[in-house]
Amino acid sequence: MKAVTRRIGIMGGTFDPIHVGHLMTAEAVRDEFGLDKVIFVPAAVPPHKMDQQVTEARHRYLMTVLATTSNPHFDVSSIEMDRPGPSYTIDTIYELRRQYGENTDLFFITGADAIAEIPTWDRIEELLGLCQFIAATRPGFLPNVDNIKEYFGELGSARIHRLETPELEISSTNIRDRLKRGFSIKYIVPPAVEDYIYKEGLYK
Ligand code: ATP
Ligand code: MG
Repeated sequence: MKAVTRRIGIMGGTFDPIHVGHLMTAEAVRDEFGLDKVIFVPAAVPPHKMDQQVTEARHRYLMTVLATTSNPHFDVSSIEMDRPGPSYTIDTIYELRRQYGENTDLFFITGADAIAEIPTWDRIEELLGLCQFIAATRPGFLPNVDNIKEYFGELGSARIHRLETPELEISSTNIRDRLKRGFSIKYIVPPAVEDYIYKEGLYK
C-alpha cells in the first residue's frame, strides 16, 4: 500500500517583522493547494540582505511564533537560525526533506517580488527538482510570474505555480518606516507582534 503523500508549504523570509501580508498569503496558498501545513522559516542571515541591518534573529523568530500560534496549520522552524553562516534555501530544503521523508511534497511559497529573483539563487535548478514553487501575486502585479516560468522551460511550467491572492500593499520595510516616524501599525501586524515590538523597543 502506498503511503499518503503529505503536502507541506514553506514560507521563508526575514520577517523583520512578520505582518498580515505574510499570514494571509500563507493561508490562501494552504487552502488553494490543499497543504497540510505551512512552516514559517525565518532566515538567520538572508544572503540578499547581508549589506543591510537586520533585527536580531531571536526577536524575528519569537515574533513569527507569536503571529502563528492561533493557526493550527502553521508552524515555525528555527532550522536556518540553528545553522551557522548565510541561509541558502537549498540547504533548508534538503534538511526538511530529511526530516519529513520521501512521502512529502514540498512547496516553497514566495511573493511576486521574490520569485523574480530566483534565477540568481544558489543551485536553483536542483532546488526546483526538490520542491515546487508557489508565487503569490495579484492581477496585473509585476513582475510577471509567467516570464519566470518560461525562463526555466519545462522545469518551470511543471514546478512553478502562480496564485492570485488579494495581496495587500504591506511590507516589513513600510512597517519599520512607520514605527520610526511614530505611526500606528495596528491591524498591519497581529496584536501580539505589536505588543512585542513595543515591549522590546524594536524599530525605533
Ligand atoms: P522587507 O520589506 O524587509 O523586504 P517583506 O515585507 O518583503 O520585508 P520578507 O520577509 O522579505 O518580507 O518576505 C518574505 C516573503 O513574503 C517573500 O517571499 C515576499 O515576497 C513575501 N511577501 C512579503 N510581503 C508580502 C505581501 N504583502 N503579500 C504577499 N507576499 C508577501
Ligand atoms: Mg522582502
